[in-house]
Amino acid sequence: MRDVVAGAELNPRQEGSSEGGAFKVYSEFEWLQQTRLLESRDRLETMVEDLRAMALTSPGPNADGVPRGDATIEADVAQRRSEAINEALARIDAGRYLQCDACESPIAPERLQALPTTRACRRCA
Ligand SMILES: [Zn+2]
Repeated sequence: MRDVVAGAELNPRQEGSSEGGAFKVYSEFEWLQQTRLLESRDRLETMVEDLRAMALTSPGPNADGVPRGDATIEADVAQRRSEAINEALARIDAGRYLQCDACESPIAPERLQALPTTRACRRCA
């Protein structure tokens, strides 16, 4: 059994194996991005829960002065970002993270650092 880090069990690291040629090794860069994405997703999921609870419980603006409608809108935005992160994590898992969905060219690491959930290179975006 390997150690399970919170959230990491979704994308268990698989060490390279020469058997059958079906091995998967993530690059250092993919690992860094995956860690960042998992952290962001955890924060967003907490935010979504808080905002949804806020929207349900407060009839008018909440204690922080956020109107209920705004909390719902913010929750929806955070939810979509969280879903985009899940897609990016799935692409890392599938080995497609570093490549453009449209033209299959490599996506520049600088671009992925700035936009960790992008699925297109600069030209196709
Ligand atoms: Zn492209």
